[in-house]
Amino acid sequence: MKISFVIPSWHYWIDPLKHQPYWEVYYATHLKEAGFDVDLYDMRETGAESLAVAVGDIPKKDFYFYWIFKTGDAAEVYSIAQLLKKKYPDSIHAAGGTHVDMCPEECEDFFDAIVVEPGENAFGQIIKDKCKNILQKRYSPSYKTTQFKNTLVPDRSLLPYEKVVNNKIFSQYGDIPGTLTYFSRGCVYRCAYCVYNVPNELQVRTPQAIKEEIKYFKDNYGVKGILIKDEIAIHPNKKISTQTLNAIKESGVVWRGQTISIASREQLKLAKESGCLELSVGIETVDNDVMKLIDKSWQSQKKIEEFIKNCKEFDIKVKICLILGLPGEKKDIAQKTIEFLDNIKPDFISVSGFCPLPGSTIYRNPEKYGISYIDKGWDKHSHLLYRFSDEEEVGLPFEYKEETPWGKSLSRKEIKEAIIQVQTWGREQGMLY
Ligand code: SF4
Repeated sequence: MKISFVIPSWHYWIDPLKHQPYWEVYYATHLKEAGFDVDLYDMRETGAESLAVAVGDIPKKDFYFYWIFKTGDAAEVYSIAQLLKKKYPDSIHAAGGTHVDMCPEECEDFFDAIVVEPGENAFGQIIKDKCKNILQKRYSPSYKTTQFKNTLVPDRSLLPYEKVVNNKIFSQYGDIPGTLTYFSRGCVYRCAYCVYNVPNELQVRTPQAIKEEIKYFKDNYGVKGILIKDEIAIHPNKKISTQTLNAIKESGVVWRGQTISIASREQLKLAKESGCLELSVGIETVDNDVMKLIDKSWQSQKKIEEFIKNCKEFDIKVKICLILGLPGEKKDIAQKTIEFLDNIKPDFISVSGFCPLPGSTIYRNPEKYGISYIDKGWDKHSHLLYRFSDEEEVGLPFEYKEETPWGKSLSRKEIKEAIIQVQTWGREQGMLY
């Protein structure tokens, strides 16, 4: 049995090769360890004039698997599966990932089988079931019984060397060979716009597993810097964050990652000692009323200010991630945002347009959030990806009603102008990269 995990083009990124396709490597490693003949087919650099031409080059396999982490990839992956099925009618196609968790019924129409929730055992089971002629449409293992703490180190030899390590990830900090990984998956919060809180708990790797993976990177790739892709790199539980940060500290690398603004002074001090150079913090909005509406009232302007102050004390650079176009915003949102940023003076900012991602609380309750229309063209749903630079696509696949529960809404044009205003200000301050 021959198997390929297919990595889509990641069409929304200027440089799709900067980051590693972690989840495809991770699940392919599980199949490899179980004795299957698996490889990765990477569509991020085909350079083909059309998707059909690119798919035409994919060699014949018995199984094609996909991990649709971002809804922005869904439409392309559906097309790849359909084109391959036409080309190789006996091939079996199965997909998992956050988008599949959120839209299982729709995904069942495009694949022979889907995996809802984790894929550690499910992809192997699909192969075995197909061989016994008992393939099911839906495989639903549970995160409750599939933990991440002692999981396998993803086998990066499935990728060419230059797709594992590069000096772009830490380009702000000199010539550091860097890579990325996850030390936890999931998130304990329930922000109304988010779908990346699956599982709705933080499954954290053990300190031993963290040290083992960093050693693997250092020994095999000469890695000196790690981008920790966890939703929350500094665990809200102090005991757990101490274990994780001490494991990184003992491993002797520098790192950057994203976290939340409630990390304490003590946690940030240890983060610095563990090699932290930079933290991205998804505050998303500077408006306390909007925070309440999007179920993020566990943070506040005051907490954000405190967080930045502590980071500055320990010389950790801060990147503030913002979303504009959120429910509850008024016409002065751009000005309010700029004033707040000017006051707290982060090192970097990143501005995205809001996207009501399928499966999120806002998507499921558009009325409550004053939304009149959501575009179901999934290639426009690249939440937290569109940066409104000259070279990237424009998101905002939705519209508000004119009158909303919080008063007069912003039009799509006004939201775009607000984004550009904040982007332009950030660029003038040297805060964009
Ligand atoms: S936005 Fe971040 S903190 Fe909020 S639920 Fe999603 S992953 Fe968790």
